[in-house]
Amino acid sequence: MTAENRVETHRFQAEVSQVLHLVINSLYSHKEVFLRELVSNASDALDKLKFRALTDPDLTRDDNTFEIRIATDKDAKTITIEDTGVGMTHDELVENLGTIAHSGSRKFLEAAKAKGASGDVNLIGQFGVGFYSAWLVADRVTVTTRAAGHDDAWTWASDARDGFTLEPATRDRRGTTITLHVRDDQEEFLELWRLRELVTRYADFVGHPILVKTDGGEFETANKASALWRRPKSEITKEQYEEFYRHAARAYDDPTAWTHFRVEGNQEFVGLLFIPSAPPYDLDAQPGESRRGVQLYVKRVFIMDNCEAIVPSWLRFVRGVLDSDDLPLNVSRETLQDSSVVRAIRKQVARKTLDLLDEIARDRADDYKTVWGHYGRILKEGLVDDYRAGRADDRDFKDRLAKLLRFESSKGEGIVSLAEYVARMPEGQEAIYYLIGDSVRTISDSPHLEGVKKKGYEVLFLTDAVDTWAVEGLREFQGKKLVSVADANLKVDGSDDEKKEREEKAGLLRSLFDRTRAVLGSRVKDVRASDRLTDSPACLVLAPGSITPAQERVMRALGREVPAAQRILELNPTHPLVEGLRTVSERDPASPQVSEWIEVLYDQALLTEGTPIDDPQRFARRLTTLLQHAVTSAASPTT
Ligand code: ADP
Repeated sequence: MTAENRVETHRFQAEVSQVLHLVINSLYSHKEVFLRELVSNASDALDKLKFRALTDPDLTRDDNTFEIRIATDKDAKTITIEDTGVGMTHDELVENLGTIAHSGSRKFLEAAKAKGASGDVNLIGQFGVGFYSAWLVADRVTVTTRAAGHDDAWTWASDARDGFTLEPATRDRRGTTITLHVRDDQEEFLELWRLRELVTRYADFVGHPILVKTDGGEFETANKASALWRRPKSEITKEQYEEFYRHAARAYDDPTAWTHFRVEGNQEFVGLLFIPSAPPYDLDAQPGESRRGVQLYVKRVFIMDNCEAIVPSWLRFVRGVLDSDDLPLNVSRETLQDSSVVRAIRKQVARKTLDLLDEIARDRADDYKTVWGHYGRILKEGLVDDYRAGRADDRDFKDRLAKLLRFESSKGEGIVSLAEYVARMPEGQEAIYYLIGDSVRTISDSPHLEGVKKKGYEVLFLTDAVDTWAVEGLREFQGKKLVSVADANLKVDGSDDEKKEREEKAGLLRSLFDRTRAVLGSRVKDVRASDRLTDSPACLVLAPGSITPAQERVMRALGREVPAAQRILELNPTHPLVEGLRTVSERDPASPQVSEWIEVLYDQALLTEGTPIDDPQRFARRLTTLLQHAVTSAASPTT
């Protein structure tokens, strides 16, 4: 076989083509970020090799260099970025540089479209498509690589049109060389001073030496090559922290806040944790899907990305690094699971992050509102009772989390904390009231609120899927129970006169209740008089011990078999509609019309709590009949 016919041609996965199209045609500003992306990849490749060599020392026995070299050739108009990292095999090349395996790319494309492809280069790295940023400045890219532990080398080449070629190459040491054929209008990047400046700006804290070729042909180290988090705080500028965040998180935003700490004593470690200002796209990645997360280092050696064992899942928006002095270098995800060192680290990570959030809530109210808006629903997961290993320890943080909670409320004055809520409770109010539903709009008009609001009590609106479990886990705050206004046992006493009137009227309704029970059958657990309603005729409340409709929906969406939520229908004894219904029902106990009206009342009660009704057509037909009666009698001349 001749070399020529060993050239393979491959097509890009459709998403890669789309990403490339965007990079080439729509991103105009900050083109220099290509260097950050490619150097980050090189640095990752060195990290991976160092990690693998821990268990397979042969990989680096002959060649123990870990470095990145950058050079330009003004005549050929090329920039080369070379590393002595893990390299890639033939198949890895095809897989890594021709397809985008994770969901990031689709989200990237969606986000780019949403922004009208306004040239926002900030989108690139965030979505894990960093390699393709090479096309910000190049019209042709070649990658020659030899995987550590392999003898064969390969050259990947593409002009980004619709695919790439692969052919055998020679490379005398392991690692990867990326050559950018710089576009005519991007020649500024061929200037060595410009590249050196970019290395200082974007890669100063990369933990491996980055050497830039000088005009004299020598290579000179252009970065500090020391782990930023190991430097004294006083020597690190705000800009360096921010740039480090972008490097570690592969993000483009400025972090909202960070905490840099050293823990001494039994377990020694250093942490540098950030709260992103832009929510990472991978917050809801399923277990197993890649997420950036917090990186674990042991004695400055990179061990793994997204070390879930050291960060509670309810803090999964946190980014940064944790560097332990005590963990063995050969830790794996499995051994991390039940290590006491890890448990101690995890506790500190939670503690330090909560300190940071407290600080933002206290000193930067507006920023906290944004943070809560982005991550509130995730933080609330920390309140959910969960007795798995690791999670049991998190119970210690419930009180601290409770202080960070914010809710919209019936006061309609923006978000409120539980402490503020309790402080403004009127005299006589014993509990903290809340109502769960799909959106503030649907809840704020709910009949369940009527009685409580009339008393002047504020009601918190809970609209996140996790809320049902979160309030169950929290139970109380400052000695005040959390009570749902849709709870069957809710007692909101009115004045004595009101109470008497209600009781008397309710007594008269017994036969209507029987009738209603007969009509609705097993759909309700009971029918009874309500003392929570003032303006509406009916509402549904949950039978004690029943799961909530929200829980039912979530569980079913997860494919779990759950019993249906069990409800009690409450009728408002003082409502004219209910009184009228009683009159008709008593006059004609077998009236089919009364049954129809009861059905409508029930469906309507379901709709107000946000539960879809079983048979919308029937509901509509019944309404039409009712309307027709109303219209006919309105149109007929009064006598
Ligand atoms: P990301 O780095 O976010 O995964 P990229 O598009 O930048 O996405 O890179 C895709 C993959 O290509 C990387 O995950 C890595 O496996 C591989 N890769 C890129 N550059 C190098 C390199 N210099 N050495 C080894 N592998 C690399």
